[in-house]
Amino acid sequence: MLKVNVLTIFPELFPGFLGSSLTGRALEEKKFELNTINIRDYAFDKHKSVDDTPCGGGAGMVMRPDVLGNALKANRTSGRIIYMSPRGKSLTQAKVKALSEETELTIICGRFEGIDERVIEAYDIEEISIGDYILTGGEQAALIMLDAVIRLLPGVLGNSASIEDESFENNLLEYPQYTRPIEWEGRVVPEVLLSGHHQKIAQWRHKEAEAITKERRPDLYKIYLESKKS
Ligand code: SAH
Repeated sequence: MLKVNVLTIFPELFPGFLGSSLTGRALEEKKFELNTINIRDYAFDKHKSVDDTPCGGGAGMVMRPDVLGNALKANRTSGRIIYMSPRGKSLTQAKVKALSEETELTIICGRFEGIDERVIEAYDIEEISIGDYILTGGEQAALIMLDAVIRLLPGVLGNSASIEDESFENNLLEYPQYTRPIEWEGRVVPEVLLSGHHQKIAQWRHKEAEAITKERRPDLYKIYLESKKS
């Protein structure tokens, strides 16, 4: 079972939306364990301070290495430590899949200007970004990453076949989806999907996936073409 340690100064944000729907059921059924740690509990001084002003000056505050280090020492047994950070490598579905195969993940949620660089070095922490924009805190990013990881855990999605066809599998975006009614406001579902001919349907979907990827994500399409060659 995957154990997730989350280090935050806003523990009330967890499990947040992970407590609903598929991830909520997975949590209830103990398909993963969520251990939310309040960093402030590891502060030393009477004000319980977790941050201080940046060395060298400038705006904002930085999270202290000693307090964070203590929180890590007391809670993490093994496994990767991840700091949610706009400077990190972009989160991809391949990364999500790798994380879903771990047994313990420890996630640090930053606030203010971020965390002291020495903790990142000392604990060999991996930085992961959820996109090229700045959030107010790492909690939102951690929840998004965890949502993607948890849905890949065994038994969380009812129909696991749906994972294999999804966007980013094989570096392609997903083909268009349709359901009933067959005709809606003059628009008809593509005929091939009603043919019952599985091979033709698969071919059509594959062609559509290629066309959509080529048009919308030339960067991904390039990777797809290269991976097809090898
Ligand atoms: N001064 C920092 C931004 C701090 S934002 C910089 O310029 O890089 C405060 C916190 O929000 C960060 O410590 C990080 O944990 C989180 N955060 C903000 N944007 C994020 C993103 N795109 N991905 C992951 N975490 C992010």
